[in-house]
Amino acid sequence: MNTEEIIKRGEQSFLHTYNRYPIVLDHGEGVYLYDTDGKRYLDFGAGIAVFALGYGNREYNEALKAQTDRLIHTSNLFYNAPAAEAAEKITALSGMDRVFFTNSGTEAVEGAIKTARKYAYTRDRNTDHEIIAMEHSFHGRSYGALSVTGNAHYREPFGPGIGKIRFAEFNNFESVKQLVNEKTCAVILETVQGEGGIHPADRSFLHSVRALCDERDILLILDEIQCGMGRTGSMFAFEDYGIRPDVLTLAKALGCGVPVGAFLMSERVAERSMIPGDHGSTYGGNPLAGAAVVEVLRQFDERKIVEHVRALTPVLEESLDALKERHDCVKERRGAGFMQALELDRPAGEVVKAAQKEGLIVLTAGEKILRLVPPLVIEKKDIEEMSGILDKVLG
Ligand SMILES: *Cc1c(COP(=O)(O)O)cnc(C)c1O
Repeated sequence: MNTEEIIKRGEQSFLHTYNRYPIVLDHGEGVYLYDTDGKRYLDFGAGIAVFALGYGNREYNEALKAQTDRLIHTSNLFYNAPAAEAAEKITALSGMDRVFFTNSGTEAVEGAIKTARKYAYTRDRNTDHEIIAMEHSFHGRSYGALSVTGNAHYREPFGPGIGKIRFAEFNNFESVKQLVNEKTCAVILETVQGEGGIHPADRSFLHSVRALCDERDILLILDEIQCGMGRTGSMFAFEDYGIRPDVLTLAKALGCGVPVGAFLMSERVAERSMIPGDHGSTYGGNPLAGAAVVEVLRQFDERKIVEHVRALTPVLEESLDALKERHDCVKERRGAGFMQALELDRPAGEVVKAAQKEGLIVLTAGEKILRLVPPLVIEKKDIEEMSGILDKVLG
């Protein structure tokens, strides 16, 4: 089947919820992807911040093959070694005490919301608890996650959502404070907003929200599905702020391509919320997913991925700042670590398509925002190649 036939086949049968680019990806090597016509792309999208460790990763592939041959699925009625090891490692790394593995990001958010409601229910037996979420946030497409997503375009046609959700302005503490009442059970936010345009939380904002949550016994849920796992130059973005969430959600780079997410919490929260029977998943944390997480964390450690991101962030930021200097159409550069945005004065989609023609994959995050979330293993030469192509395309 040639490229055109594959696209035609897909279009005839897929539910039309995506406007895909007319490219069929075939294989990858390091930081490059190749399409079915043999064209090479430098990848600064990483499958939406997922594939952190580079394509054609032999050790990762071998770990998955070995687990595939041994055992792929067990259900959660039994224990399995990879999931137990993954659980031990991810709780130790994050400073959280308990983890539940899911199959996606949105399911991790569902679990976090259920935890917050159960925590409050355990305290006062009320069933009408409210959640404060942020404008321009993105938490996923299933009902709970969609209900706390601050994007009416995604949310409204599917209403009503899951009960009272109040939206505050991100990085405006007063707007959060005003929405708190005796029914508030959680504040949910992304430590660095992703889909909403790459906006890191301000230090004072996050500290104030943390203090408010402590004072009122409200759970702080940090969604680090996109900004966690080394992306900002710390294993978890919240580490940069010197605070800790009560509940943490992860996915995307956690399995580097094997569908796996997680919600994690402190022992204090776990003891007062989820008990046997409260939550479950047939697949969640199966041996294959567990093996992926274990191998991903092993490579993060061995290859010193976090240190690498931190060391190379100034290089990436300088090259993007230089693009801003050279091109009037670039209004702002912002971000943290390898999670960067260029805000343009024009639709970013056009730039994305022009970059593809030149062999570079970049993403958008909102209409006028170009999003760069490369694999975490990029080197200086890859940054130079990216900025060379964007220089041409923006000009
Ligand atoms: C991608 C994303 C999600 C949803 O994850 P899925 O795996 O697509 O369900 C939730 N929150 C944030 C911050 C994300 O970036």
